[in-house]
Amino acid sequence: MSDDNGAADGAPAGDDADRPDDDPLTYDQARWTADDDRYEPLLSEKRTSEVEIGDGAPLPDDLTRDSLALPDPSEPELARHYTRLSEMNYGVENGPFPLGSCTMKYNPKFTEDVAALPSAAVHPDRHPDSAQGTLALLARLQDYLGRIGGMDAVTLQPPAGAAGEFTGILIAEAYHEANGEDRSEVIVPDSAHGTNFASAALAGFDVLELPSAEDGRVDLDALEAAVGDDTAALMLTNPNTLGLFERDIEAIADIVHDAGGLLYYDGANLNALLGRARPGDMGFDVMHYNVHKTFATPHGGGGPGAGPVGVTAELEPFLPTPHVRRDGGSGQYELAEPEQSVGKVHGFAGNWLVLVKAFAYIARLGDEGLADASAKAVLNANYLAEQIEYEIPFGPFHHEFVASAGEQDAADVAKRMLDYGVHPPTTKWPEIVSEALMTEPTEIETRRTLDQLAAAFDAVADEDDATVEAAPERTSARRIDQVAAARSPRLSWQALDDE
Ligand SMILES: *Cc1c(COP(=O)(O)O)cnc(C)c1O
Repeated sequence: MSDDNGAADGAPAGDDADRPDDDPLTYDQARWTADDDRYEPLLSEKRTSEVEIGDGAPLPDDLTRDSLALPDPSEPELARHYTRLSEMNYGVENGPFPLGSCTMKYNPKFTEDVAALPSAAVHPDRHPDSAQGTLALLARLQDYLGRIGGMDAVTLQPPAGAAGEFTGILIAEAYHEANGEDRSEVIVPDSAHGTNFASAALAGFDVLELPSAEDGRVDLDALEAAVGDDTAALMLTNPNTLGLFERDIEAIADIVHDAGGLLYYDGANLNALLGRARPGDMGFDVMHYNVHKTFATPHGGGGPGAGPVGVTAELEPFLPTPHVRRDGGSGQYELAEPEQSVGKVHGFAGNWLVLVKAFAYIARLGDEGLADASAKAVLNANYLAEQIEYEIPFGPFHHEFVASAGEQDAADVAKRMLDYGVHPPTTKWPEIVSEALMTEPTEIETRRTLDQLAAAFDAVADEDDATVEAAPERTSARRIDQVAAARSPRLSWQALDDE
């Protein structure tokens, strides 16, 4: 990362350069016409031609057609179509994206270049003897992540953070079973990410929700009362989702371990700890990492991701199979099945090209670069928090903070921020802060961009209800029916056509 704090300089250009920092920018998103209902047409609505289907199809006649109407754009039409669609969206390459907990970092292009090298195109079924370089990279990434987290062994197989949690909990279950223990409960603090509850439940555990203490941290008395012979694990995020460091982590670890349970670290977001503190040293036994939040790989939008899992030596025999390791004798890399493996949680050794990007990022930054990233992540969060009017009830915080929208509805505030060219923070969670605005600028933003962010927050804080409730005004799409989109999605243009 360069000395000027990253490549993602969102500083305004041209005429705006002399603008006083406390004036918010406004932002107009691409629209095809001024008419809100007119979106970029689908390719199939633009131009199609009937394509003949030959007789040679290896399918029965009653399952084949004679011809098919297929989109028929010219290359420039196609390029413009996708460019327009991209302009109707908002991403970290449009402007700041301070999404708390779910961390949206700029994805530096050099990692894409590395993943696009012809030599990175390796078939997953290649024999290990002819894929030693691939396996060496994976083994080194396991090693890097192990050192970053203070863990003895790492699997790269799980394809997302939530999948990592599920894998970690399966490992905990297998460990207890191997010890002849039947432990049915996983404890999760009320401020935890929703996936923690879901992962534990999916693995068949009863989930016990632990209320936070007044200061937003784990309540030690409540934890003492909650643990027992049934406790399989406590899942903890540290710093927690309020950005607060659990200062009593050693006491927490003792309480859980004394009861015979394991301590699970939700390391989705390691941005405050990188190069400074390690979950393994705090007493955690198993953890996952989100390479898309901490190590700048793209959030997949549902596409390929990676949520590696690290464990202490005690839990290593239970890792998923295959596990990449180096044979001590021959020095060859190999794919091995750990003795008491929980099995497979994804294809092959994981999502290779995502792992290449994470490897490239970590290797490029090195120890110093990673420590610098965490310093700037914490500095940026604290700098931004100082500038904004909204109240921040809990602190001192690290890489993120949770402000309260007060009398305003956090969801409305979020929509309005888009009009100022700022992606909204995470809203309405954790519930311990009313109308929560969970904000994480990350280390990538410059001071100018942080000032732009603060100006946007403050502009919205001072606006009247009618304006905020009617937002966004200047985006391509306005209020979207999110519930209908989630519950009854229409996934093809034919479904639209049928209406
Ligand atoms: C994002 C996140 C997860 C889940 O990760 P996914 O990759 O989205 O499945 C878990 N815990 C925390 C704290 C997170 O922020």
